[in-house]
Amino acid sequence: GKGTVVKHIMDHYPDYRLSVSVTTRDPRENEINGVHYHFISNEKFEDMISKNDLLEYAGYVNHYYGTPRAFVETNIENGKNVILEIETQGAIQVKKDKPEAIMIFVLPPDADTLKKRLIGRNTETEEVINQRLQKAAEETAVLDHYEYFVINDAVEECAANIDKIVKDNHPKLADADCVEKIKKDIMKFSKGE
Ligand code: 5GP
Repeated sequence: GKGTVVKHIMDHYPDYRLSVSVTTRDPRENEINGVHYHFISNEKFEDMISKNDLLEYAGYVNHYYGTPRAFVETNIENGKNVILEIETQGAIQVKKDKPEAIMIFVLPPDADTLKKRLIGRNTETEEVINQRLQKAAEETAVLDHYEYFVINDAVEECAANIDKIVKDNHPKLADADCVEKIKKDIMKFSKGE
């Protein structure tokens, strides 16, 4: 879902730079080291934490993920918009460190679409898919930390809305009732449905 939107932004909008995270999980079949992630060991990850090389980091379904600090700070200094495609705990850490950051939550149109997208990707076992759906349900609890919501119905439109939020004086685009409805729908996965 949100990965597709971010790719669309990178392919169609100039002046954005995508932060490539470090992770301790294994690459998926189509993933390239240095492009999708820097795939690193637990030892290396802990080394980066101790050297303060990570702007933020978090655990997500059995693995660690983090944002290398240097890339982000260099690009901000050069006037670029840096995109961090990260989960909620990490986003909250970034906002504390850099209050000027814009937190945008990309929502699926509804819970079943979220589940279908995870299954359709065909990269995870059923167990991991269920863990990720539960995680999505947990993440709805921190939605009030987010100022902006976009609904990922059509990729082009979703990308255009993100670009508008970043560039056009931060308009609030999504309807609050609609966000609340999707949130409640996704929460059903916390019961393992
Ligand atoms: P995936 O394993 O599907 O690539 O990513 C799992 C989750 O980790 C996604 O929600 C993704 O956005 C998030 N993630 C990816 N990179 C980072 C990172 O550097 N920091 C944090 N906190 N989350 C990340």
